[in-house]
Amino acid sequence: MNNKLYGNLIFELSHPGRRAYSLPKNEFGNHELPKEMRRAKDAELPECDEMTVVRHYTNMSENNFGVDNGFYPLGSCTMKYNPPINEEIAALPAFNNLHPLQPESSVQGALQVEYDLQRALSAITGMSDFTLNPCAGAHGELTGLMIIRSYHQSRGDNKRNKVIVPDSAHGTNPASAAVCGCEVLEVKSTEDGLVDLADLKELVKNHPDDIAAMMMTNPNTLGLFERDIPEITKLIHSAGGLMYYDGANLNPMLGAARPADMGFDVMHINLHKTFSTPHGGGGPGSGPVGVRKGLEKFLPKPHVVKTGDAFSIEGLEVQDELEGQDGLETLNNQDSQDSIEKKLENNHVGAFLGNFLVIVRALTYILSLGKENIKMVGPLSVLNANYIKESLKDDYELPIAGLCKHEFVFNGLKDKSTGVTTMDVAKRLLDYGYHAPTIYFPLLFHEAMMIEPTENESKETLDGFIDVMHKIAKEARETPDVVKRAPHNTPITRVDDVEAAKHPVLTYKQLIEDSEK
Ligand SMILES: *Cc1c(COP(=O)(O)O)cnc(C)c1O
Repeated sequence: MNNKLYGNLIFELSHPGRRAYSLPKNEFGNHELPKEMRRAKDAELPECDEMTVVRHYTNMSENNFGVDNGFYPLGSCTMKYNPPINEEIAALPAFNNLHPLQPESSVQGALQVEYDLQRALSAITGMSDFTLNPCAGAHGELTGLMIIRSYHQSRGDNKRNKVIVPDSAHGTNPASAAVCGCEVLEVKSTEDGLVDLADLKELVKNHPDDIAAMMMTNPNTLGLFERDIPEITKLIHSAGGLMYYDGANLNPMLGAARPADMGFDVMHINLHKTFSTPHGGGGPGSGPVGVRKGLEKFLPKPHVVKTGDAFSIEGLEVQDELEGQDGLETLNNQDSQDSIEKKLENNHVGAFLGNFLVIVRALTYILSLGKENIKMVGPLSVLNANYIKESLKDDYELPIAGLCKHEFVFNGLKDKSTGVTTMDVAKRLLDYGYHAPTIYFPLLFHEAMMIEPTENESKETLDGFIDVMHKIAKEARETPDVVKRAPHNTPITRVDDVEAAKHPVLTYKQLIEDSEK
Protein backbone atom coordinates (compact mmCIF):
# COMPACT_ATOMS: atom_id res chain seq x y z
CA MET A 1 0.00 0.00 0.00
CA ASN A 2 1.13 3.51 -0.73
CA ASN A 3 0.86 5.39 2.54
CA LYS A 4 1.81 8.71 0.97
CA LEU A 5 -0.93 8.67 -1.58
CA TYR A 6 -3.70 7.43 0.65
CA GLY A 7 -2.59 9.02 3.90
CA ASN A 8 -2.55 7.70 7.44
CA LEU A 9 -5.49 9.82 8.47
CA ILE A 10 -8.49 10.81 6.41
CA PHE A 11 -7.87 14.39 7.58
CA GLU A 12 -4.54 14.44 5.77
CA LEU A 13 -6.38 13.79 2.50
CA SER A 14 -8.86 16.58 2.97
CA HIS A 15 -9.22 19.38 0.39
CA PRO A 16 -11.67 22.21 1.03
CA GLY A 17 -14.80 21.78 -1.06
CA ARG A 18 -14.27 18.13 -2.08
CA ARG A 19 -17.42 16.09 -1.73
CA ALA A 20 -18.24 12.39 -1.82
CA TYR A 21 -21.98 12.93 -2.11
CA SER A 22 -24.55 15.29 -3.55
CA LEU A 23 -27.91 16.05 -2.03
CA PRO A 24 -31.02 16.37 -4.23
CA LYS A 25 -32.19 19.88 -4.99
CA ASN A 26 -33.98 21.45 -2.04
CA GLU A 27 -37.68 21.66 -2.84
CA PHE A 28 -38.89 22.54 0.60
CA GLY A 29 -37.55 26.00 1.22
CA ASN A 30 -35.22 26.98 4.02
CA HIS A 31 -36.12 26.03 7.54
CA GLU A 32 -33.34 27.13 9.79
CA LEU A 33 -32.66 25.43 13.08
CA PRO A 34 -33.12 27.71 16.08
CA LYS A 35 -29.90 29.57 16.74
CA GLU A 36 -29.32 28.08 20.20
CA MET A 37 -29.30 24.61 18.62
CA ARG A 38 -26.66 25.45 16.02
CA ARG A 39 -22.92 25.11 16.51
CA ALA A 40 -20.99 28.37 16.69
CA LYS A 41 -18.27 27.05 14.40
CA ASP A 42 -18.45 24.56 11.55
CA ALA A 43 -17.43 21.04 12.47
CA GLU A 44 -13.93 20.26 11.29
CA LEU A 45 -14.75 17.35 9.05
CA PRO A 46 -12.50 15.93 6.37
CA GLU A 47 -13.51 16.82 2.80
CA CYS A 48 -12.73 14.07 0.31
CA ASP A 49 -13.99 12.49 -2.89
CA GLU A 50 -15.63 9.09 -2.74
CA MET A 51 -12.78 7.04 -4.26
CA THR A 52 -10.33 8.51 -1.80
CA VAL A 53 -12.60 7.61 1.10
CA VAL A 54 -13.11 4.05 -0.17
CA ARG A 55 -9.40 3.45 -0.75
CA HIS A 56 -8.35 5.03 2.50
CA TYR A 57 -10.56 2.79 4.60
CA THR A 58 -10.00 -0.33 2.50
CA ASN A 59 -6.23 0.08 2.78
CA MET A 60 -6.50 0.79 6.45
CA SER A 61 -8.56 -2.38 7.01
CA GLU A 62 -5.78 -4.34 5.34
CA ASN A 63 -3.38 -3.21 8.03
CA ASN A 64 -5.55 -5.05 10.48
CA PHE A 65 -4.50 -8.51 11.53
CA GLY A 66 -7.32 -10.91 12.34
CA VAL A 67 -8.12 -14.60 12.63
CA ASP A 68 -9.44 -14.39 9.07
CA ASN A 69 -6.09 -13.41 7.57
CA GLY A 70 -3.54 -15.31 9.60
CA PHE A 71 -2.56 -17.61 12.43
CA TYR A 72 -3.26 -15.94 15.77
CA PRO A 73 -1.76 -18.02 18.62
CA LEU A 74 -2.53 -15.47 21.35
CA GLY A 75 -2.48 -17.58 24.51
CA SER A 76 -5.19 -17.05 27.11
CA CYS A 77 -7.37 -15.25 24.56
CA THR A 78 -8.68 -18.22 22.55
CA MET A 79 -8.62 -16.42 19.21
CA LYS A 80 -10.50 -19.14 17.38
CA TYR A 81 -12.22 -19.16 14.04
CA ASN A 82 -15.38 -17.04 13.93
CA PRO A 83 -17.63 -18.80 11.42
CA PRO A 84 -19.45 -16.43 9.03
CA ILE A 85 -22.74 -18.17 9.84
CA ASN A 86 -22.52 -16.54 13.29
CA GLU A 87 -22.43 -13.15 11.61
CA GLU A 88 -25.23 -14.02 9.21
CA ILE A 89 -27.52 -15.06 12.02
CA ALA A 90 -26.58 -12.09 14.23
CA ALA A 91 -27.32 -9.75 11.31
CA LEU A 92 -30.90 -11.00 10.82
CA PRO A 93 -33.22 -8.02 11.24
CA ALA A 94 -35.31 -9.99 13.72
CA PHE A 95 -32.30 -10.00 16.06
CA ASN A 96 -30.47 -6.91 14.95
CA ASN A 97 -33.38 -4.44 15.03
CA LEU A 98 -34.82 -5.34 18.39
CA HIS A 99 -35.59 -2.69 20.95
CA PRO A 100 -34.88 -3.68 24.54
CA LEU A 101 -38.23 -2.35 25.71
CA GLN A 102 -40.37 -4.27 23.22
CA PRO A 103 -43.25 -6.22 24.79
CA GLU A 104 -42.37 -9.82 25.59
CA SER A 105 -44.99 -11.16 23.21
CA SER A 106 -43.16 -9.54 20.27
CA VAL A 107 -39.72 -10.96 21.12
CA GLN A 108 -40.47 -14.59 21.90
CA GLY A 109 -37.79 -15.79 19.46
CA ALA A 110 -35.11 -13.62 21.03
CA LEU A 111 -36.10 -14.77 24.49
CA GLN A 112 -35.89 -18.36 23.31
CA VAL A 113 -32.33 -17.71 22.11
CA GLU A 114 -31.44 -16.53 25.61
CA TYR A 115 -33.25 -19.41 27.26
CA ASP A 116 -31.74 -22.04 24.95
CA LEU A 117 -28.24 -20.69 25.56
CA GLN A 118 -28.81 -20.74 29.33
CA ARG A 119 -29.79 -24.41 29.01
CA ALA A 120 -26.93 -25.27 26.65
CA LEU A 121 -24.35 -23.69 28.97
CA SER A 122 -25.84 -25.64 31.88
CA ALA A 123 -25.53 -28.89 29.91
CA ILE A 124 -21.92 -28.12 28.97
CA THR A 125 -20.76 -27.10 32.46
CA GLY A 126 -23.07 -29.05 34.79
CA MET A 127 -24.19 -25.81 36.45
CA SER A 128 -27.88 -25.52 37.35
CA ASP A 129 -28.66 -22.12 35.82
CA PHE A 130 -26.99 -19.14 34.13
CA THR A 131 -27.40 -15.40 33.85
CA LEU A 132 -26.36 -13.99 30.49
CA ASN A 133 -26.25 -10.38 31.71
CA PRO A 134 -22.53 -9.72 32.38
CA CYS A 135 -20.73 -8.20 29.40
CA ALA A 136 -17.22 -9.71 29.76
CA GLY A 137 -15.24 -12.28 31.66
CA ALA A 138 -14.08 -9.74 34.23
CA HIS A 139 -17.66 -8.51 34.63
CA GLY A 140 -18.71 -12.13 35.18
CA GLU A 141 -16.04 -12.53 37.87
CA LEU A 142 -17.39 -9.51 39.74
CA THR A 143 -20.97 -10.78 39.35
CA GLY A 144 -19.95 -14.24 40.56
CA LEU A 145 -18.20 -12.83 43.62
CA MET A 146 -21.25 -10.68 44.39
CA ILE A 147 -23.37 -13.84 44.17
CA ILE A 148 -21.00 -15.56 46.58
CA ARG A 149 -21.18 -12.63 48.99
CA SER A 150 -25.00 -12.65 48.83
CA TYR A 151 -24.94 -16.35 49.60
CA HIS A 152 -22.78 -15.86 52.71
CA GLN A 153 -24.83 -12.89 53.85
CA SER A 154 -28.07 -14.82 53.39
CA ARG A 155 -26.77 -17.17 56.08
CA GLY A 156 -25.92 -14.27 58.35
CA ASP A 157 -22.22 -14.95 57.76
CA ASN A 158 -20.96 -11.41 57.17
CA LYS A 159 -17.28 -11.66 58.02
CA ARG A 160 -16.15 -13.63 54.97
CA ASN A 161 -14.11 -11.18 52.91
CA LYS A 162 -11.04 -13.18 51.84
CA VAL A 163 -10.66 -14.51 48.32
CA ILE A 164 -7.87 -16.97 47.55
CA VAL A 165 -6.25 -16.51 44.14
CA PRO A 166 -3.32 -18.56 42.73
CA ASP A 167 -0.18 -16.60 41.81
CA SER A 168 -0.59 -17.80 38.22
CA ALA A 169 -4.07 -16.24 37.92
CA HIS A 170 -5.14 -13.74 35.30
CA GLY A 171 -4.93 -10.18 36.63
CA THR A 172 -8.67 -9.75 36.48
CA ASN A 173 -9.13 -12.29 39.33
CA PRO A 174 -7.49 -10.26 42.12
CA ALA A 175 -8.88 -7.06 40.57
CA SER A 176 -12.47 -8.39 40.67
CA ALA A 177 -12.03 -9.53 44.26
CA ALA A 178 -10.76 -6.08 45.23
CA VAL A 179 -13.60 -4.29 43.39
CA CYS A 180 -16.02 -6.55 45.26
CA GLY A 181 -14.54 -5.26 48.51
CA CYS A 182 -12.67 -8.46 49.33
CA GLU A 183 -9.09 -9.01 50.36
CA VAL A 184 -6.91 -11.21 48.16
CA LEU A 185 -4.87 -14.08 49.59
CA GLU A 186 -2.34 -15.37 47.09
CA VAL A 187 -1.58 -19.07 46.98
CA LYS A 188 1.75 -20.16 45.48
CA SER A 189 2.37 -22.52 42.60
CA THR A 190 4.62 -25.56 42.81
CA GLU A 191 7.66 -26.10 40.58
CA ASP A 192 5.43 -27.93 38.10
CA GLY A 193 2.99 -25.02 37.84
CA LEU A 194 0.05 -26.29 39.90
CA VAL A 195 -1.56 -24.87 43.04
CA ASP A 196 0.73 -25.63 45.98
CA LEU A 197 -1.48 -27.74 48.27
CA ALA A 198 0.78 -27.30 51.28
CA ASP A 199 0.66 -23.52 50.89
CA LEU A 200 -3.11 -23.64 50.45
CA LYS A 201 -3.56 -25.76 53.59
CA GLU A 202 -1.54 -23.22 55.54
CA LEU A 203 -3.68 -20.34 54.24
CA VAL A 204 -6.89 -22.14 55.14
CA LYS A 205 -5.54 -22.95 58.59
CA ASN A 206 -4.78 -19.27 59.19
CA HIS A 207 -8.22 -18.20 58.02
CA PRO A 208 -10.64 -20.60 59.66
CA ASP A 209 -13.74 -18.43 59.35
CA ASP A 210 -13.31 -15.62 56.84
CA ILE A 211 -12.66 -17.26 53.46
CA ALA A 212 -15.42 -16.25 51.06
CA ALA A 213 -14.14 -18.08 47.99
CA MET A 214 -11.25 -19.45 46.03
CA MET A 215 -10.95 -18.46 42.37
CA MET A 216 -9.37 -20.95 39.99
CA THR A 217 -8.79 -21.34 36.30
CA ASN A 218 -8.66 -24.96 35.19
CA PRO A 219 -6.69 -25.73 33.11
CA ASN A 220 -4.73 -22.89 34.64
CA THR A 221 -3.00 -20.05 32.83
CA LEU A 222 0.00 -22.31 32.15
CA GLY A 223 -2.32 -24.66 30.27
CA LEU A 224 -2.04 -27.31 32.99
CA PHE A 225 -4.93 -29.29 34.43
CA GLU A 226 -5.09 -28.85 38.20
CA ARG A 227 -4.94 -32.52 39.17
CA ASP A 228 -5.57 -31.86 42.86
CA ILE A 229 -8.88 -30.19 42.24
CA PRO A 230 -10.94 -32.72 44.28
CA GLU A 231 -8.75 -32.11 47.32
CA ILE A 232 -8.72 -28.34 46.79
CA THR A 233 -12.51 -28.08 46.59
CA LYS A 234 -12.87 -30.28 49.67
CA LEU A 235 -10.47 -28.07 51.59
CA ILE A 236 -12.22 -24.80 50.66
CA HIS A 237 -15.71 -26.18 51.20
CA SER A 238 -14.81 -27.52 54.62
CA ALA A 239 -13.56 -24.02 55.51
CA GLY A 240 -16.98 -22.65 54.51
CA GLY A 241 -15.84 -21.00 51.25
CA LEU A 242 -17.20 -21.46 47.76
CA MET A 243 -15.24 -22.41 44.64
CA TYR A 244 -15.23 -19.96 41.73
CA TYR A 245 -14.29 -21.21 38.26
CA ASP A 246 -12.74 -18.70 35.86
CA GLY A 247 -14.06 -20.20 32.64
CA ALA A 248 -11.72 -18.40 30.26
CA ASN A 249 -10.00 -21.75 29.65
CA LEU A 250 -13.16 -23.77 29.16
CA ASN A 251 -12.23 -24.50 25.54
CA PRO A 252 -10.11 -27.64 26.17
CA MET A 253 -12.73 -28.92 28.63
CA LEU A 254 -15.52 -29.02 26.02
CA GLY A 255 -16.63 -32.61 25.85
CA ALA A 256 -14.01 -33.73 28.37
CA ALA A 257 -14.94 -32.46 31.85
CA ARG A 258 -17.48 -30.21 33.56
CA PRO A 259 -16.65 -27.57 36.20
CA ALA A 260 -19.66 -28.54 38.33
CA ASP A 261 -18.36 -32.12 38.50
CA MET A 262 -15.00 -30.78 39.68
CA GLY A 263 -16.75 -29.19 42.67
CA PHE A 264 -17.08 -25.58 41.51
CA ASP A 265 -20.07 -23.62 42.80
CA VAL A 266 -20.04 -20.48 40.65
CA MET A 267 -18.37 -19.80 37.30
CA HIS A 268 -18.25 -17.52 34.31
CA ILE A 269 -17.80 -18.33 30.65
CA ASN A 270 -16.17 -15.96 28.15
CA LEU A 271 -18.59 -16.50 25.27
CA HIS A 272 -16.35 -14.43 22.99
CA LYS A 273 -13.48 -16.86 23.60
CA THR A 274 -14.90 -20.36 23.91
CA PHE A 275 -17.96 -19.83 21.75
CA SER A 276 -16.43 -17.58 19.10
CA THR A 277 -17.11 -13.89 18.66
CA PRO A 278 -14.47 -11.66 17.06
CA HIS A 279 -12.89 -9.98 20.08
CA GLY A 280 -9.58 -8.56 18.96
CA GLY A 281 -9.16 -5.03 20.25
CA GLY A 282 -11.22 -5.61 23.35
CA GLY A 283 -14.75 -6.49 22.42
CA PRO A 284 -17.57 -7.15 22.19
CA GLY A 285 -17.80 -9.69 24.96
CA SER A 286 -20.19 -11.63 27.12
CA GLY A 287 -19.50 -13.29 30.45
CA PRO A 288 -22.46 -15.46 31.53
CA VAL A 289 -22.34 -16.63 35.14
CA GLY A 290 -23.54 -20.06 36.19
CA VAL A 291 -24.31 -21.43 39.63
CA ARG A 292 -24.73 -24.91 41.02
CA LYS A 293 -27.98 -26.24 42.37
CA GLY A 294 -29.13 -24.31 45.42
CA LEU A 295 -27.62 -20.97 44.42
CA GLU A 296 -30.06 -20.09 41.60
CA LYS A 297 -31.92 -17.52 43.66
CA PHE A 298 -28.76 -15.37 43.90
CA LEU A 299 -28.47 -14.93 40.13
CA PRO A 300 -29.05 -11.33 39.06
CA LYS A 301 -32.21 -10.29 37.28
CA PRO A 302 -33.55 -9.88 34.66
CA HIS A 303 -33.60 -13.52 33.73
CA VAL A 304 -35.44 -15.41 30.99
CA VAL A 305 -37.79 -18.15 32.15
CA LYS A 306 -40.04 -20.57 30.32
CA THR A 307 -43.60 -21.36 31.33
CA GLY A 308 -45.31 -23.90 29.10
CA ASP A 309 -44.36 -22.77 25.61
CA ALA A 310 -43.96 -19.09 26.50
CA PHE A 311 -40.82 -17.21 27.42
CA SER A 312 -40.85 -14.28 29.78
CA ILE A 313 -38.45 -11.94 31.52
CA GLU A 314 -38.28 -12.23 35.26
CA GLY A 315 -37.45 -9.03 37.11
CA LEU A 316 -37.09 -6.46 34.36
CA GLU A 317 -37.83 -3.50 36.61
CA VAL A 318 -36.63 -0.96 34.09
CA GLN A 319 -39.96 -1.22 32.29
CA ASP A 320 -41.87 -0.25 35.44
CA GLU A 321 -39.38 2.51 36.09
CA LEU A 322 -40.06 4.04 32.72
CA GLU A 323 -43.81 3.72 33.00
CA GLY A 324 -44.45 5.25 36.40
CA GLN A 325 -41.64 7.28 37.90
CA ASP A 326 -41.95 5.11 41.02
CA GLY A 327 -39.11 2.77 40.20
CA LEU A 328 -36.75 5.57 39.32
CA GLU A 329 -37.54 7.39 42.54
CA THR A 330 -36.84 4.30 44.57
CA LEU A 331 -33.51 4.08 42.81
CA ASN A 332 -32.67 7.72 43.47
CA ASN A 333 -33.77 7.66 47.07
CA GLN A 334 -31.52 4.81 47.92
CA ASP A 335 -28.31 5.51 49.69
CA SER A 336 -25.85 6.11 46.87
CA GLN A 337 -22.81 5.29 48.98
CA ASP A 338 -22.03 2.01 47.40
CA SER A 339 -23.27 1.67 43.87
CA ILE A 340 -22.33 -2.01 43.54
CA GLU A 341 -24.26 -2.72 46.70
CA LYS A 342 -27.14 -0.76 45.27
CA LYS A 343 -27.03 -2.63 42.00
CA LEU A 344 -26.98 -5.88 43.89
CA GLU A 345 -30.05 -4.84 45.87
CA ASN A 346 -31.74 -4.05 42.62
CA ASN A 347 -30.36 -7.26 41.22
CA HIS A 348 -28.91 -5.67 38.07
CA VAL A 349 -25.37 -6.08 36.83
CA GLY A 350 -25.86 -4.79 33.31
CA ALA A 351 -28.41 -3.26 31.02
CA PHE A 352 -31.35 -5.44 30.00
CA LEU A 353 -30.45 -8.98 28.90
CA GLY A 354 -26.74 -8.72 28.23
CA ASN A 355 -24.81 -8.34 25.01
CA PHE A 356 -27.51 -9.95 22.93
CA LEU A 357 -25.78 -10.39 19.57
CA VAL A 358 -22.80 -12.13 21.22
CA ILE A 359 -25.34 -14.45 22.82
CA VAL A 360 -26.84 -15.12 19.37
CA ARG A 361 -23.38 -15.94 17.97
CA ALA A 362 -22.59 -18.31 20.83
CA LEU A 363 -25.83 -20.24 20.41
CA THR A 364 -25.29 -20.39 16.63
CA TYR A 365 -21.80 -21.77 17.19
CA ILE A 366 -23.00 -24.39 19.67
CA LEU A 367 -25.93 -25.50 17.49
CA SER A 368 -23.89 -25.61 14.28
CA LEU A 369 -21.29 -27.85 15.91
CA GLY A 370 -23.96 -29.95 17.60
CA LYS A 371 -23.66 -32.31 20.54
CA GLU A 372 -21.23 -34.68 18.86
CA ASN A 373 -18.82 -32.24 17.22
CA ILE A 374 -18.57 -29.95 20.21
CA LYS A 375 -16.89 -32.84 22.00
CA MET A 376 -14.06 -32.65 19.45
CA VAL A 377 -13.19 -29.04 20.36
CA GLY A 378 -11.36 -29.87 23.59
CA PRO A 379 -9.29 -32.84 22.35
CA LEU A 380 -8.28 -31.11 19.09
CA SER A 381 -7.19 -27.90 20.82
CA VAL A 382 -5.09 -30.03 23.19
CA LEU A 383 -3.58 -32.03 20.32
CA ASN A 384 -2.61 -28.87 18.41
CA ALA A 385 -0.97 -27.24 21.44
CA ASN A 386 1.06 -30.32 22.27
CA TYR A 387 2.15 -30.70 18.65
CA ILE A 388 3.62 -27.18 18.60
CA LYS A 389 5.17 -27.56 22.06
CA GLU A 390 6.94 -30.81 21.23
CA SER A 391 8.09 -29.52 17.83
CA LEU A 392 9.72 -26.38 19.25
CA LYS A 393 11.12 -27.45 22.60
CA ASP A 394 14.64 -27.93 21.21
CA ASP A 395 14.87 -24.23 20.33
CA TYR A 396 12.68 -22.72 23.06
CA GLU A 397 12.96 -23.26 26.80
CA LEU A 398 10.09 -25.33 28.13
CA PRO A 399 10.02 -24.68 31.89
CA ILE A 400 7.28 -27.22 32.53
CA ALA A 401 7.48 -30.39 30.48
CA GLY A 402 4.77 -32.96 30.03
CA LEU A 403 1.31 -32.92 28.56
CA CYS A 404 -0.36 -29.51 28.39
CA LYS A 405 -3.97 -28.71 27.61
CA HIS A 406 -4.92 -26.09 25.00
CA GLU A 407 -1.95 -23.77 25.58
CA PHE A 408 1.55 -23.78 27.01
CA VAL A 409 4.34 -21.43 28.02
CA PHE A 410 7.91 -21.18 26.75
CA ASN A 411 10.43 -19.16 28.73
CA GLY A 412 12.08 -17.47 25.75
CA LEU A 413 14.76 -18.98 23.53
CA LYS A 414 16.66 -21.91 24.92
CA ASP A 415 19.99 -20.36 23.98
CA LYS A 416 20.15 -17.34 26.30
CA SER A 417 23.60 -16.29 25.04
CA THR A 418 22.18 -14.58 21.93
CA GLY A 419 20.61 -11.73 23.94
CA VAL A 420 17.45 -12.10 21.85
CA THR A 421 14.40 -11.66 24.08
CA THR A 422 10.82 -12.88 23.90
CA MET A 423 9.84 -9.37 22.80
CA ASP A 424 12.28 -9.63 19.86
CA VAL A 425 10.88 -13.01 18.78
CA ALA A 426 7.34 -11.66 19.00
CA LYS A 427 8.25 -8.65 16.83
CA ARG A 428 10.06 -10.82 14.28
CA LEU A 429 6.98 -13.04 13.93
CA LEU A 430 5.12 -10.00 12.56
CA ASP A 431 7.60 -9.83 9.65
CA TYR A 432 6.66 -13.39 8.75
CA GLY A 433 2.92 -12.64 8.79
CA TYR A 434 2.03 -14.20 12.13
CA HIS A 435 0.31 -12.64 15.10
CA ALA A 436 2.58 -12.81 18.13
CA PRO A 437 1.72 -15.13 21.00
CA THR A 438 0.91 -13.63 24.40
CA ILE A 439 4.18 -12.47 25.90
CA TYR A 440 5.39 -11.73 29.43
CA PHE A 441 2.29 -13.43 30.84
CA PRO A 442 1.91 -15.37 33.07
CA LEU A 443 4.33 -13.61 35.38
CA LEU A 444 5.86 -16.82 36.70
CA PHE A 445 8.65 -16.76 34.09
CA HIS A 446 10.75 -13.78 33.01
CA GLU A 447 10.56 -14.44 29.26
CA ALA A 448 7.09 -16.00 29.08
CA MET A 449 5.67 -16.71 25.64
CA MET A 450 2.24 -18.25 25.76
CA ILE A 451 1.00 -20.12 22.71
CA GLU A 452 -2.58 -21.23 22.05
CA PRO A 453 -3.31 -22.52 18.54
CA THR A 454 -7.00 -23.49 19.12
CA GLU A 455 -8.67 -26.49 17.51
CA ASN A 456 -9.39 -24.98 14.10
CA GLU A 457 -5.92 -24.94 12.57
CA SER A 458 -4.76 -27.43 9.95
CA LYS A 459 -1.51 -29.37 10.35
CA GLU A 460 -0.03 -27.32 7.48
CA THR A 461 -0.72 -24.06 9.33
CA LEU A 462 0.86 -25.41 12.50
CA ASP A 463 3.86 -26.66 10.50
CA GLY A 464 4.25 -23.23 8.87
CA PHE A 465 4.33 -21.55 12.29
CA ILE A 466 6.76 -24.14 13.63
CA ASP A 467 9.10 -23.58 10.64
CA VAL A 468 9.11 -19.82 11.20
CA MET A 469 9.77 -20.21 14.92
CA HIS A 470 12.76 -22.44 14.10
CA LYS A 471 13.93 -19.92 11.52
CA ILE A 472 13.79 -17.09 14.10
CA ALA A 473 15.76 -19.19 16.59
CA LYS A 474 18.38 -19.73 13.88
CA GLU A 475 18.47 -16.00 13.10
CA ALA A 476 18.91 -15.30 16.80
CA ARG A 477 22.05 -17.46 16.76
CA GLU A 478 23.45 -16.23 13.44
CA THR A 479 22.21 -12.67 12.88
CA PRO A 480 20.73 -11.57 16.21
CA ASP A 481 20.53 -7.91 15.14
CA VAL A 482 17.93 -8.75 12.50
CA VAL A 483 15.68 -10.13 15.22
CA LYS A 484 16.44 -7.39 17.71
CA ARG A 485 15.50 -4.66 15.25
CA ALA A 486 12.33 -6.37 13.98
CA PRO A 487 9.75 -5.77 12.68
CA HIS A 488 11.04 -4.61 9.32
CA ASN A 489 8.00 -5.14 7.06
CA THR A 490 5.15 -3.56 9.04
CA PRO A 491 3.77 -0.02 8.44
CA ILE A 492 5.10 1.01 11.83
CA THR A 493 8.32 -0.46 13.19
CA ARG A 494 9.03 -0.90 16.87
CA VAL A 495 7.10 1.53 19.05
CA ASP A 496 8.38 2.91 22.31
CA ASP A 497 6.00 1.17 24.72
CA VAL A 498 6.98 3.31 27.69
CA GLU A 499 6.57 6.58 25.79
CA ALA A 500 3.27 5.36 24.36
CA ALA A 501 1.98 4.56 27.84
CA LYS A 502 3.25 7.79 29.40
CA HIS A 503 2.34 10.13 26.59
CA PRO A 504 -0.39 8.55 24.50
CA VAL A 505 -1.29 10.49 21.36
CA LEU A 506 -4.91 9.60 20.84
CA THR A 507 -6.33 12.53 18.89
CA TYR A 508 -5.64 14.00 15.49
CA LYS A 509 -5.33 17.53 16.86
CA GLN A 510 -2.69 16.50 19.33
CA LEU A 511 -0.81 14.80 16.51
CA ILE A 512 -0.75 18.05 14.54
CA GLU A 513 0.22 20.10 17.57
CA ASP A 514 3.02 17.68 18.36
CA SER A 515 4.32 17.77 14.82
CA GLU A 516 4.34 21.58 14.86
CA LYS A 517 6.43 21.72 18.01
C1 LIG B 1 -9.56 -13.35 29.21
C2 LIG B 1 -9.44 -13.80 30.60
C3 LIG B 1 -10.16 -13.17 31.63
C4 LIG B 1 -10.94 -11.88 31.43
O1 LIG B 1 -11.96 -11.98 30.52
P1 LIG B 1 -12.46 -10.69 29.69
O2 LIG B 1 -13.59 -11.22 28.89
O3 LIG B 1 -11.30 -10.22 28.87
O4 LIG B 1 -12.90 -9.66 30.69
C5 LIG B 1 -10.09 -13.72 32.90
N1 LIG B 1 -9.34 -14.81 33.17
C6 LIG B 1 -8.61 -15.43 32.21
C7 LIG B 1 -7.82 -16.64 32.56
C8 LIG B 1 -8.63 -14.94 30.89
O5 LIG B 1 -7.90 -15.54 29.95
